[in-house]
Amino acid sequence: RLQEIRGDVTFEDIVFEYEKDRPALKNIRLDVKAGQSIALVGHTGSGKSTIINLLCRFYDPVQGRVLIDGQDIRDVTVESLRSQVGIVLQDTFIFSGSIRDNIRFGRLNATDEEVELAAQAVNAHDFILSLPDGYDTQVQERGNSLSMGQRQLLSFARALLADPRVLILDEATASIDTETELKIQEALKTLLFGRTSFIIAHRLSTIRHCDNIVVLDHGVIMEQGDHDEL
Ligand code: ATP
Ligand code: MG
Repeated sequence: RLQEIRGDVTFEDIVFEYEKDRPALKNIRLDVKAGQSIALVGHTGSGKSTIINLLCRFYDPVQGRVLIDGQDIRDVTVESLRSQVGIVLQDTFIFSGSIRDNIRFGRLNATDEEVELAAQAVNAHDFILSLPDGYDTQVQERGNSLSMGQRQLLSFARALLADPRVLILDEATASIDTETELKIQEALKTLLFGRTSFIIAHRLSTIRHCDNIVVLDHGVIMEQGDHDEL
């Protein structure tokens, strides 16, 4: 089990292929210290999502190991891994129910106060209060009544409440107005603080405040460094 994890993540000489003899990742070595934020960038098909798939154990590597705090994630129960590694996907998952329930999905036993504190911390509180029934406003599965930016903030609140040590974020590509964009960037800082994070980043503003930028090309790490180094 992964009990009190710190959040060091290591990809140790990883080789992975979805189909035989067509490697999607070749010899990936990546050492991430607890609390660091990593931006994964690269062209379509370069292997960004595949790295995430291995970290979530949606697939296991063909060669090499993924370690969290030095422990092979294959030796950990799936429940334990899920509670410590959180994902915010690009197409944010909203289900039919209240805004409150949607945020609480991060941690089912959270109190109303905890839900609201999480929403406040990621700049979602104001837009929620402007909805007809505030936190009790019902939203639909496709979340159509909410803008892309609002959905993103909602998913941040959910992730903050879940409080995983390792956070994976597939940043939305949809265009978002400048004001919301600023709110999201601010919220992102709050969300990432103190946890290890892997971000499939599409915005330069996001890439800029990551500690390490990993550039992938055809399943290989071409370069890495911080924004000033690259
Ligand atoms: P994008 O920016 O388009 O999301 P990506 O960097 O996330 O691209 P991956 O999805 O990791 O790229 O894909 C890496 C390689 O693995 C590509 O060659 C892709 O075609 C292949 N691939 C990805 N998923 C599968 C799958 N489920 N089955 C077979 N091949 C796959
Ligand atoms: Mg992808």
